[in-house]
Amino acid sequence: MRTLFLSHPRYRDHLAPPNHPEQPERIAAIEQRLEGEAFQHLIRDLARPVTDEEIQRVHPAAYVDHIRIQAPHDGLMSISNDTILSNGTYEAARLAAGAACLAVDEVMTGLVDNAFSAARPPGHHASARHAMGFCFFNHAAVAARHAQAAHGAERVAIVDFDVHHGNGTQNIFQADATVFYASIHQAQLFPGTGEASETGAAGNILNVPLNAGANGAVALAAFNDRILPAVAAFRPDLLVLSAGFDAHFRDPLADLNFVEGDYAVLTRALMEVADRVCGGRIVSLLEGGYDIDALGLSAAAHVSALMGH
Ligand SMILES: [Zn+2]
Repeated sequence: MRTLFLSHPRYRDHLAPPNHPEQPERIAAIEQRLEGEAFQHLIRDLARPVTDEEIQRVHPAAYVDHIRIQAPHDGLMSISNDTILSNGTYEAARLAAGAACLAVDEVMTGLVDNAFSAARPPGHHASARHAMGFCFFNHAAVAARHAQAAHGAERVAIVDFDVHHGNGTQNIFQADATVFYASIHQAQLFPGTGEASETGAAGNILNVPLNAGANGAVALAAFNDRILPAVAAFRPDLLVLSAGFDAHFRDPLADLNFVEGDYAVLTRALMEVADRVCGGRIVSLLEGGYDIDALGLSAAAHVSALMGH
């Protein structure tokens, strides 16, 4: 399997206060776990900045400008509770969205089979005009729109296994029958959305909340019984994955009980469906994951599965 791995040194210039969970070290923790022998065939490249055209398919120009202007020259500035800008935030966020587009380009043209972008800030809480939950631009949404606008994809499925509900992604697509959004997440956790009753104006949203304490077996059952049949029935041309690793039992922000190997199992289950319906095309984008060591191990298990191991 040809698997593309995207990252960029500028992600570390998006700074956070000392006790903030979304720290620059998160990306290095993943990169270090991908240095071993098992990953020698990984195709590595650098992210590129998103273009104005690409980002404005999701976020109005005035909102993009608002984020750029808000970023302080020195120090930190909070734009909502825990969502904080430093001087390097805007460039990092544009690289993270651009990486999503680059991954779509390489996967849709068949240069690679699948791709994983290790980027920060994350994206799935950002809606078209609102930053929140550590997120500024919604990279999964930008990826889906890029696949449609630049590569002729008719339908894109976004699957989100981050422990938090991707309220921004749901909000962006909640009346769009061409994009299917499916999420497993811990019930009643931040941001408080993602009830099973939220099905979208076009019937294109599927939320499967899991009770606190649920482990990987519960998640796999949710995938096999609910998420994967719905994705297969949607017949997407591309599968975008919002890959957060904060359902790991060691994560400080949530109370699910996944272990790193569960991410390989869930990834293989997604790959099996992608093989059947969209030529195996998967673009996976990092979202959360806040225990540094568990994040590195979990992302490595995910990438190893994408590589076909
Ligand atoms: Zn999360």
